[in-house]
Amino acid sequence: GHDIGGLRPTLMCGPCSVESPEQIDAIAARIAPLGVTFLRGGAFKPRSSPYNFQGHGDPALSWMRSAADKYGLRVVTEVLSEHDVGGVAELADLVQIGSRNMQNYALLHAVGRSNRPVFLKRGMMSTIEEWLMSAEYVLSNGNYQVMLCERGIRTFERYTRNTLDINAIPVLKQLSHLPVIGDPSHATGKWDLVAAAAKACVAAGADGLMIEVHPNPAEALSDGAQSLKPEKFAQLVQELKAVAAAVGRAL
Ligand code: PEP
Ligand code: MN
Repeated sequence: GHDIGGLRPTLMCGPCSVESPEQIDAIAARIAPLGVTFLRGGAFKPRSSPYNFQGHGDPALSWMRSAADKYGLRVVTEVLSEHDVGGVAELADLVQIGSRNMQNYALLHAVGRSNRPVFLKRGMMSTIEEWLMSAEYVLSNGNYQVMLCERGIRTFERYTRNTLDINAIPVLKQLSHLPVIGDPSHATGKWDLVAAAAKACVAAGADGLMIEVHPNPAEALSDGAQSLKPEKFAQLVQELKAVAAAVGRAL
């Protein structure tokens, strides 16, 4: 029921992790009136350390579904294992493959066999060609609803968490018909750099943005440093409208 691609960039926002029913409800309530289409949030979290919060799993999927339905939002959430594809595809509108799993071919086959659209993040050390080949794993299983998310790559630069590869956006537009989404949160790792990177993505032709939003970033269970408070996000939406208009698009 929602087209991705074309004139209007699609906004996908929410916390890094779904922490509680109250948290996800409060965030959904704040972002829904701002033109956001998808509520994002991790139920299964791929953390670099096994000792960090791993997500609340299946219960978090239900909390997110309820909050999204209450405020007229759709759900995008990550699946980590091919064994969870069925459960995630049942409750989510859009199934996310995270950066760490971009070349998990068993998982790509599994989401390719499901009937849910797939949100394929770029591997942090992957070339554009490798990324497109991963998309082909999904497409060649008969699932043609695939979008690509540029979330920053690892370079020699350590000041930011990753380096946003803006080039990738117009390159993918040349090479592929698949929609391209920018993720300025993971690309920068710092909340005060997110707005500039988000505007750059829209100016470069991104079909949407995935942005982490949290009411209390200091207490977030993951990625607080790169999460925008709802009021900052509301301000960014206003700025994005001007950028979109300047490049012949609309938000
Ligand atoms: C996320 O979206 O919270 C996430 C884990 O992203 P990535 O796979 O890009 O690191
Ligand atoms: Mn995150």
